[in-house]
Amino acid sequence: MRSQSMRLTLQRRLVVEMTFATRDHFTAESLLAQCRRRNGKVSRATVYRTLAFLVKAGLLRQVGLGQQSPQYDPNFADAPRHGHFVCVDCQKVVEFHDPCLDVRESIVTKEHGFSPKRVSLQIEASCDAFREKGVCPRRAG
Ligand SMILES: [Zn+2]
Ligand SMILES: [Zn+2]
Repeated sequence: MRSQSMRLTLQRRLVVEMTFATRDHFTAESLLAQCRRRNGKVSRATVYRTLAFLVKAGLLRQVGLGQQSPQYDPNFADAPRHGHFVCVDCQKVVEFHDPCLDVRESIVTKEHGFSPKRVSLQIEASCDAFREKGVCPRRAG
């Protein structure tokens, strides 16, 4: 029993480590694959539970970035106000932060009688390649 819970602790620690080893957005399944490359015994349940814990603790954010499965974003701890551009063709994601938008957001929010808790701005757009060539070289398939 003791060694079983020890193994679980090590697995959780690996999941947390891999979560913040990247600045890329990722899915639970891609994180699972990455963890298993380091430790083949990491269970899917541990990955999902640890991600849910990190989200609840406010260290990780779940975002919809044009993909079918939800993406996790490890960058909100460092940059709590960043937004995303998502290419409608290749799903390329670029992060941005504009302090002027922060100011406008808080004014508009207060005007409507709210106090801001969490902001996420996502702009779906065409990337340069899509605009110029009508197709994105990065597009999968
Ligand atoms: Zn992000
Ligand atoms: Zn594109």
